[in-house]
Amino acid sequence: MRLWLKDPLAILAEGAEAGVVVEGNRIVELVARGRTPAAPVDETFDAGRHVVLPGLVNAHHHFYQTLVRAHPVGIPLDLVPWLVAMYPIWSRMDAQDLRLATRVALVELLLSGCTTAADHHNLFPPGLENAIDIEVEEARRLGMRVTITRGTMSFSVKDGGLPPENVVQPDDVVLRDCERVVKAFHDPAPGSMTQIAFAPCSPYAVHRPLMPDLAALAHRLDVRLHTHLLQVEDEERFSVEAHGLRPIDFLAEVGWLSPRVWIAHAVHFNADDIRQLAAAGVSICHLAAADMLLAAGICPVVDFEAAGAQVGLGVDGSTSNDSSNMMEAVRHSLMLQRLRYGASRVTHLDALRWATQGGAQCLGRDDIGRIAPGAVADLALFTLDAPRFSGAHDPIAALVLCGAHRADRVMVNGVWRVLDGAVVGLDLEALLSQHRQAARKFA
Ligand SMILES: [Zn+2]
Repeated sequence: MRLWLKDPLAILAEGAEAGVVVEGNRIVELVARGRTPAAPVDETFDAGRHVVLPGLVNAHHHFYQTLVRAHPVGIPLDLVPWLVAMYPIWSRMDAQDLRLATRVALVELLLSGCTTAADHHNLFPPGLENAIDIEVEEARRLGMRVTITRGTMSFSVKDGGLPPENVVQPDDVVLRDCERVVKAFHDPAPGSMTQIAFAPCSPYAVHRPLMPDLAALAHRLDVRLHTHLLQVEDEERFSVEAHGLRPIDFLAEVGWLSPRVWIAHAVHFNADDIRQLAAAGVSICHLAAADMLLAAGICPVVDFEAAGAQVGLGVDGSTSNDSSNMMEAVRHSLMLQRLRYGASRVTHLDALRWATQGGAQCLGRDDIGRIAPGAVADLALFTLDAPRFSGAHDPIAALVLCGAHRADRVMVNGVWRVLDGAVVGLDLEALLSQHRQAARKFA
């Protein structure tokens, strides 16, 4: 089936002023201004009301946290006391909770124009040993493209760590399960809907030997590596005290200065570190909302890009952002980076590039994040009908500057998953009712 998305109001692609042709799960043609598709089409969708973006890529999240938003215990706290306060609450999560939390996170992301999401799951209390399986099942159900990262933590409170004892796992269990979930779910092929990566919560939250072990396993199975690092400055002091090495040197020591790696936050690296990370091909995931809410600082995104590193965006967990909206993440990033670098050095096009191509690079993919022949047909279509857009001149800038937050249509892998602002085939009210009910046990 060949579908022509015809004459969009605006589109984030050069030479596609008259739209794009989708065939199967691929974009096969960009139609230039005044032209028609080169071959006959079976169906035409008039996109005259729509601004068309590549489907947004969310490069970091914690789906389970949708059940614990705006929680009074965490609201007034900085990162470490916030983690200490939240872990016992999160650790009550069971399989059905995770299923509902993941479903709501994915629905929220889809409705915001996101077509690919990475989730960092590192909570494995008894009964949640198959957390990765649950997330993969939920993503398949909704037709979302995902990279699920198999996380881990080694140190509980009794070893001087932050989480309670019931959520950590021994290293051999972790390594075995990492291999199991890659074999069960990871599809490396172009157009893949499901990929797996490995993701210790932070390099300091796990036994030191697990870092090189995970790097070696990732190399053997050809999957990517992810972790949180340097959201707050204290991590540097901790690294020096605990390991005698600064974070950048610790990464090098454990085999994590590698093009397989993308790092969440990366707020406090210095200029030399940035050059080393970029030279090693490490990508960065900027999490503006979480960094602002937890008063962590401002990730030096423009310096990372100038050094040659790829930068993507993420919404982060719903308790350190409280929303899972990728268009909001684009707007937050634009504003926060302008605060650091000035208006002339950061535009809406930069923020949209981070949210599309940059996120794709974080996930090691070149088949998503762009509107081009051969790329998968992942598209987000927004209208400018709401009062907040009235009087806007540049339609693409309007999405970011006037604050678009809900897509009208979303296509993933050539299939419409959102139509008229609603997820196709989903009883949203019923889902939210179940989710609200499940959230009560985390009060
Ligand atoms: Zn995170």
